[in-house]
Amino acid sequence: MKHNFFLPATIIQYDVVISGGGLAGVAAAVSAARQGARVALVESGGELGGDITKGFVPQLLDCQDKGGFVAEIFDHLNSGGHTRARRGARYDETGSKIPGTMIETEYLKSFLDKTLRDLQVEVYYHSLASFAELSEERITALLVTTEGGNLCFKAHTYVDATGNGQLAALAGCEYEFGHPTTGSPQPASMNMLVTGLPEDFPQTENNADKAKLKQVFEEAGIHVSANEIFLIRSAIDGCWVLSVNYQYDVPPDDPLALSQATRDGRIECTEVADAMRKLPGFEKLDILLISSHLGIREGRRIKGQYRLTFEDITQGHKFDDAISLVRFSIDVHAIDAADKRDHGQGKRAIPYHIPYRALLPLGCDNLLLAGRCISGDFYAHASYRVVGNVIPTGEAAGFAAAYCAREGTLPGNVDGKAVREYMESLGYQL
Ligand SMILES: Cc1cc2nc3c(=O)[nH]c(=O)nc-3n(C[C@H](O)[C@H](O)[C@H](O)COP(=O)(O)OP(=O)(O)OC[C@H]3O[C@@H](n4cnc5c(N)ncnc54)[C@H](O)[C@@H]3O)c2cc1C
Repeated sequence: MKHNFFLPATIIQYDVVISGGGLAGVAAAVSAARQGARVALVESGGELGGDITKGFVPQLLDCQDKGGFVAEIFDHLNSGGHTRARRGARYDETGSKIPGTMIETEYLKSFLDKTLRDLQVEVYYHSLASFAELSEERITALLVTTEGGNLCFKAHTYVDATGNGQLAALAGCEYEFGHPTTGSPQPASMNMLVTGLPEDFPQTENNADKAKLKQVFEEAGIHVSANEIFLIRSAIDGCWVLSVNYQYDVPPDDPLALSQATRDGRIECTEVADAMRKLPGFEKLDILLISSHLGIREGRRIKGQYRLTFEDITQGHKFDDAISLVRFSIDVHAIDAADKRDHGQGKRAIPYHIPYRALLPLGCDNLLLAGRCISGDFYAHASYRVVGNVIPTGEAAGFAAAYCAREGTLPGNVDGKAVREYMESLGYQL
């Protein structure tokens, strides 16, 4: 059967269609498929894991005491020896997972592929969710541009796990981004993997180390755009993650600005690596890979039924419809080249809940949000955006989406307390 948007497209029916194959999207797919839903996952690239795998951000944060798919990933990677603890051992004396674990991303990608294959989730790589057909604040069809032509996906419920809130924007939902006064989002970054450093070379463990390394660079006349330099041993011997690049003020809804930031980030990586070879210890530095994917810290924050705020996170607010307990504090990177890093106005987050309602976008009734595009303000986003919280948002969204398809209802009618119970049944301590 053919469907006419402005382009002809073959129609395929699913219970749940998920846009975006980052960790939130994969978690949503796993959860929906385990609830018996027929699931499609649409990913514009050729691999799963999003920022973590494509963007060379191989460090999982805020994963302690998280059950569900967070624990499954850790168990799998730990059992194969594919992790490297950043601070101390992998487990503390109570058996809890410690935050800050470097992982081998190729093994993560393969685990995600295998998990979805086993669950018969239909993954469409190199496929872009590009147009949403709407009727009365519902998505009636999603146009997906694929290598084999246009496909029209029809589902009962859709999940936006695109990181940047791309599907919600296509569906006309309102969004915000950027600092409350300047409007500038957190910087984007192009990371690289390098080799050729002495094995005992000191890595940057904290902000003071990062600033010290930047000072060494400045004194040698090497100017980098990032206000601090991140150099960490990856989980693979001899391979380091090096981050020297910040792309400031890149609006997540400006395709040309995003492309130019990608271009400029890549150019800076090679220029800085060349200059670094004159520094002691870096003489044999080689670039192994520069990411093909610009790491976006802050994309669209879609306006939802509940918007997490600075107050919620600094006062440790808890909710009956909790789906994740966030422990990670406010991590705001410099938002312009002159900055002066704003550390959340000197405040720290007190462990707080993400409520199910933050996954419900205003203005589209059969769509759920998962991952870093959920509803929150600048400071809340700067806290909950790390992997240990992104994954449970996906699991909660996948559970609710499958429930809706099964019961013929909408995400806004799902009892948030039932979603919380589901998360607790997966081992999340809320
Ligand atoms: C530089 C940097 C450093 C970071 N450091 C850490 C860290 O050390 N530890 C940590 O835990 N977190 C870190 N984070 C945050 C964390 O990596 C992200 O917030 C998290 O991975 C986001 O996951 P996600 O699934 O929501 O989105 P993403 O990982 O962005 O995944 C979204 C996916 O959707 C796909 N997509 C987008 N649009 C479409 C479309 N229209 N159709 C189809 N597919 C689409 C993309 O290709 C992508 O694969 C960092 C982020 C950055 C950028």
